[in-house]
Amino acid sequence: MADYTKEIEKRRTFAIISHPDAGKTTLTEKLLLYGGAINLAGSVKAKKTAKHAVSDWMEIEKQRGISVTSSVMQFNYGDYCINILDTPGHQDFSEDTYRTLMAADSAVMVIDASKGVEAQTKKLFKVCVMRNIPIFTFINKMDREARDTFELLDEIETVLGIQTCPINWPIGSGKNFKGVYDRETKHISRFFAANNGQKTVDTIEVELGDEELDTLIGKENHAILADEIELLDGASSEFDLGLVREGKLSPVFFGSALTNFGVETFLKHFLNMTTTPLSRRSNEGLIDPVKNEFSAFVFKIQANMNKAHRDRVAFMRICSGKFEAGMEVNHIQGGKKMRLSQPQQLMAQERKIIEEAYAGDIIGVFDPGIFSIGDTICMPDQKFAYEGIPTFSPEHFAKVRQVDTMKRKQFLKGITQIAQEGAIQIFQEFNTGMEEIIVGVVGVLQFDVLKFRLESEYGVEIRLENLAFEHIRWIENKGIDVSKLSVTSDTKKVRDMKGNPLLLFVHSWSIQTVLDRNKELKLSEFGRE
Ligand code: GDP
Repeated sequence: MADYTKEIEKRRTFAIISHPDAGKTTLTEKLLLYGGAINLAGSVKAKKTAKHAVSDWMEIEKQRGISVTSSVMQFNYGDYCINILDTPGHQDFSEDTYRTLMAADSAVMVIDASKGVEAQTKKLFKVCVMRNIPIFTFINKMDREARDTFELLDEIETVLGIQTCPINWPIGSGKNFKGVYDRETKHISRFFAANNGQKTVDTIEVELGDEELDTLIGKENHAILADEIELLDGASSEFDLGLVREGKLSPVFFGSALTNFGVETFLKHFLNMTTTPLSRRSNEGLIDPVKNEFSAFVFKIQANMNKAHRDRVAFMRICSGKFEAGMEVNHIQGGKKMRLSQPQQLMAQERKIIEEAYAGDIIGVFDPGIFSIGDTICMPDQKFAYEGIPTFSPEHFAKVRQVDTMKRKQFLKGITQIAQEGAIQIFQEFNTGMEEIIVGVVGVLQFDVLKFRLESEYGVEIRLENLAFEHIRWIENKGIDVSKLSVTSDTKKVRDMKGNPLLLFVHSWSIQTVLDRNKELKLSEFGRE
């Protein structure tokens, strides 16, 4: 066995997802606190106040006070080395979030106890299901008036279609929040509104029914708790680690990130239940993280992180072996041997240059414009490629026009580079050149990002004209003569950057009509990067 086995087995890599405002930032901040990575609660938060902050790379983030990019944070806790992939909370940047999920081995879903499952959670969840990513649920803000616990669990089960298994159970909520009951140890951790941000909580070992509990949490709370636990033991799914790891059962935890209640318990259980870096599928079969030498895939490209240098960074998830700075690697899609320059990692606040990293870690490397999302990097004598990352279907489309037609070259360069990063998708009409470009995005805010970036980074002003298309389908039939397809009047035939033909539709019913009219036609909702 290689000497880096131990290093890899220490790694836990997960993404943290939520609907905006559910408490993802606060929870992340508290988790980092346990690792001692930051000594000041509130540091992650800074991104919201436009101060210098962890993921505050882009001008637009500061202007809008939202996090556009995802960032990665690494810290040690006990014997574990933890990589947290933070995801942008704003719903318009969900495509970036989707890709980030591809680099994670599990996901922590933060839910606001007063709101339950919100729109963004549903979307992200679909991606986890698609990849069988294990999901851990943290029901947050128990110090505020919460919805009925059974109702919340029921909603997760029905809306998201996954079974739940509460690991602990809340005692009251809001002003009456007394703490949580650990179902396995039968311990109660008591909540005191005053222990803001402190690490220690008061944990007592009790039997339900013990009179002492009446004094500790109140008679009524005690009675309700006993009833609820009885009901729960009879009704809920049994804990089954196998199902958790297959993404079919979500362990549920209750707490309050803001007051740091239930966070460490969650972390401990979570680390026990989640996996070491997983094997990943390639065209040569599963690649084991320990048995193989270095390999990685690109899941995110971020341009101009540092405007002064106009740099572009490719983020890759290391899938196997050990990475050493300066080592020679094979970039499969580029068909070239190369050395990765300026490998860097984010350690809470800072970006730092690294010398080595292991499977499970995320590194950013300087990208001279050669990487695309989904690319594989491996050892010089290896030739396998990891499975591609699916492209998510844009839902909004617009025609792009340049204001100053003299700047054609900059315009094309800019828009192509931004599309390569995966922030937008660009399409052209058939039989035309790049005269008319159609941009597709998952969230409409990406249009603003595109406009802003073309102007500030490439000096090109554009106008966007919204188009009515809402549905997109890639044509799967190879070598089909697209001009011969019989389509409806609200259908547009276009091709993507790689020349693949596809159809844009205004109305969803037209999709079926077109399929009916062209019997051989095969359409797909996803393209491949
Ligand atoms: P994000 O958008 O998911 O990252 O959410 P934030 O972590 O920024 O939290 C949104 C708001 O909820 C902030 O004002 C937090 O202070 C507040 N918040 C987060 N966790 C809790 C909690 O456990 N209890 C209460 N009462 N407020 C919380």
